[in-house]
Amino acid sequence: MEQPICLVGIGKIAVDQHVPAIAASGDWTLAATVSRAGTVEGVPSYSDFDAMLAERQDIHTISLCLPPVPRYDYAARAIAAGRHVMLEKPPGATLAEVQDLQTMAAARGVSLYTTWHSRMAKGVAAAKVFLSDKVVTGGHIDWKEDVRRWHPDQDWIFEPGGMGVFDPGINALSILTNVLPAPVHIKSAELQFPANKFTPIAASVQFSGDLTMELDWLNEGRQMWEMTLRAGGDVVALLDGGNRCVINDVEVAGTTLDEYPALYHHMATLVREGRSDVDLAPMVHVSDAMTLGKRINVAPFSF
Ligand code: NAP
Repeated sequence: MEQPICLVGIGKIAVDQHVPAIAASGDWTLAATVSRAGTVEGVPSYSDFDAMLAERQDIHTISLCLPPVPRYDYAARAIAAGRHVMLEKPPGATLAEVQDLQTMAAARGVSLYTTWHSRMAKGVAAAKVFLSDKVVTGGHIDWKEDVRRWHPDQDWIFEPGGMGVFDPGINALSILTNVLPAPVHIKSAELQFPANKFTPIAASVQFSGDLTMELDWLNEGRQMWEMTLRAGGDVVALLDGGNRCVINDVEVAGTTLDEYPALYHHMATLVREGRSDVDLAPMVHVSDAMTLGKRINVAPFSF
């Protein structure tokens, strides 16, 4: 049976992915939206989150599509009102605030899901299974895209808490932390900050275990979201943001659901089983890169 769900923050990702995924889902019905400006045709819309929580006692689950900085406040109010909560990635602006939400959700007896959409990319599960009994001996990640094309005029990504190039880069880290059979940690990093911005526009990261990562937001050429992991003589390549898995030059079959339908399916399972799924491993690496990374000032940026 379909459960009513409310989407909060009707911006780019809500319109591109969440609304169609919910519409196609057998688990959920979009019963309300909360937005300062946006609406979804045919769906009751609210501009006041607390009013929606008070009026719509039929809605037990809230999906938050806001940027990370305002998200905690909404999540805390939803949990306090006894609602299950689904968080877009990155799950918050800080690690501690997400841990706080986890504690609150456990105390209130509701489900909290820190979604990582790239982990649901179709090739990721096959890579994880293949690597599960191996020792990863090295690898490289290239996450190089054009910020003007994918985040047009989204000023928040360059504000404190917006994470800059780690906003897409955390998707690579979500895959890495999912498929590696043993954890790695950051040994060094160089972060390029535009002189007029608070967050990095490019980063070079060196992990333990001969693993490197290049993030670049000024790539106007071929858009690249790929990683190669070596395990002895075996080579696993995850291409197209994890949607294709090539093992030793042979393409392997992927999972069937697209990323956002898979997230909503998992949320339905969590709610049904009374569980939470909170994993901060990708965000720990971002935090470590910001803590340890060498800051390099580069040319100012404008959209
Ligand atoms: P966005 O379009 O810039 O913002 C989403 C919506 O959040 C806005 O339309 C606005 O909704 C609301 N919002 C923004 N600032 C707010 C504030 N200070 N207080 C309250 N509401 C605020 O961003 P987005 O691209 O959808 O990204 C949102 C999240 O999804 C981010 O964490 C991002 O990493 C993640 N994500 C984005 C993409 C992508 O391709 N863009 C892909 C995957 C995941 P209202 O005007 O409706 O109130």
